[in-house]
Amino acid sequence: MTRVLIVEDESAIAESLLFALRRDGFTVTHESTLHAAESQLTECDLVVLDLMLPDGSGFDLLAKLRALGQRTPVIILTSRDDEADRVAGLEGGADDYVVKPFSPREVVARIRAVLRRTSPTWANIPAAVSSSTSGRTLRPTLATALVIDNDTRRALFLGKLVDLTRTEFELLRVLHGAPERVFTRQQLLDRIFGESYAVTDRTIDAHIKALRRKLSQAGAPPDLVETERGVGYRLREMTPEKELVSR
Ligand code: CA
Repeated sequence: MTRVLIVEDESAIAESLLFALRRDGFTVTHESTLHAAESQLTECDLVVLDLMLPDGSGFDLLAKLRALGQRTPVIILTSRDDEADRVAGLEGGADDYVVKPFSPREVVARIRAVLRRTSPTWANIPAAVSSSTSGRTLRPTLATALVIDNDTRRALFLGKLVDLTRTEFELLRVLHGAPERVFTRQQLLDRIFGESYAVTDRTIDAHIKALRRKLSQAGAPPDLVETERGVGYRLREMTPEKELVSR
């Protein structure tokens, strides 16, 4: 059973999350201060973290967790208008964010998405194996439709070669490493060029544009690489029965 730690000092918000998560079968612990939450960090599988807490900022808890080398997924709760917090959260190692006010169902959906992509068992099961055991033909998901081969440095969409430049390949490789996760432009720049490289955010936008064009030429949904306004980009998980363009 998945153990979720909610760190939130507004009791109405905490209560609604507790209710929704328990109803969905999660084991939930709630703490309203950083101090109380700290002792629970190693006991949970995922943290839902408010940023403004009575004894400090949620960022401090996130930093502590990452400094301990813990990859426990963290979803931060941010205010509607605070883009800077969202960016800082993602760059500080948060896995996703939810903007207040939110519906508890949205948070549950985000939690499930984060758990899916951070769970090694889910990502590592090839669809071909599941389909031969169940005797059914599985529709392709992102993991089966888009194949990135690091050795040959090739990307294939449903077996069709996507002819990418070195930078476009790197960009796709980073996004593909964590579907649904939003990467800021700075994070993409750092991962692709290294931190000392002098390029601007615009560089990423131009490469994204080319990458999108080439992916859609290979039959991928045009919005597979999605823009998160004011923040960055994500590679979307596919719901293929609706979105796959057949060729
Ligand atoms: Ca708060």
